[in-house]
Amino acid sequence: NLRCIYCMPEDGIRLTEREKILQEPEILRICRVMSELGITKIKITGGEPLVRKGLYSLVRDLKRCEGIEQVTLTTNGILLKDKLPALKKAGISAVNISLDTMDRAQYQELTGKDCLLQVMEGIRAALEQGMRVKINCVALNECNEFQWGKLAALAKEYPLDVRFIEMMPIGLGKAYQGSMQEVIQKNLENIYGAAKPDSGAVRGNGPAVYWEFPGFQGKIGFISAISHKFCKDCNRIRMTAEGFVKPCLQFAQGVDMRSLLRGQTDDKELKQVFERLIYEKPRCHQFETEKADESLEQREMSKIGG
Ligand code: SAM
Repeated sequence: NLRCIYCMPEDGIRLTEREKILQEPEILRICRVMSELGITKIKITGGEPLVRKGLYSLVRDLKRCEGIEQVTLTTNGILLKDKLPALKKAGISAVNISLDTMDRAQYQELTGKDCLLQVMEGIRAALEQGMRVKINCVALNECNEFQWGKLAALAKEYPLDVRFIEMMPIGLGKAYQGSMQEVIQKNLENIYGAAKPDSGAVRGNGPAVYWEFPGFQGKIGFISAISHKFCKDCNRIRMTAEGFVKPCLQFAQGVDMRSLLRGQTDDKELKQVFERLIYEKPRCHQFETEKADESLEQREMSKIGG
């Protein structure tokens, strides 16, 4: 329901035929097998998860899978306010909300829609209902710098974390220049004073590194895939809506689980396929080399979830 300039083509995408999209029982089967291999956390992203029909029952049933401790969402937040009570009831305990600017005109420029107010209402509602909230901002060079301080101020004013993400050269993102952590941090320190590394317990599930600013209720996080490569700690695998499982965001490598699910493959074989895929996870991304071949992911980020 948005057309973020670095994520989705302006004129939209060709919709995938319904029969190619995994059905809920297929997703649940995959997640059950994965949980037996030690996966404990599931994040539903997209596309936009809040436009998916049947989201509530999917969340509820994922949450009921043995071994699954946490089901969370990454969303643009536009539909969040109205859907929150049902999502909460279904078992969502935390939401990541994408927000690159709090300037209404720029929000429209970046996303194609004048929806900033709905997003802000969604954030407020999530906090009021006791959800853990993280704001994700992709830092764009010569674009949203004037907003970084304002976005960071959300973590001062409210008990939420604001994370700045370095742009990864994937899909339409290749055409944009992202800003690096050092530049963003300096910008914020000029406004709010010196930050120190987060002294608390391990925060979050993975790649973000958190900093404390004086007087802030929440933390400021950086997800710096370019300037602070974190591949050696990457514990994620991704599955597209069509059931293609990817061990690394950058590479095309992966397994078409849908064919296996719809064939005669039993759970034991599925598990073996997963194990192989995880063992073959690439050592690290190669964003820094200007490599362009068929080993790289060709899908837009909106199809692989970010
Ligand atoms: N529609 C949801 C949303 O807006 O959050 C979920 C999908 S979106 C692909 C997930 C996240 O990926 C968003 O925070 C978006 O800003 C981020 N993203 C998209 N393209 C990116 C890129 N090239 N590099 C880094 N982050 C990117």
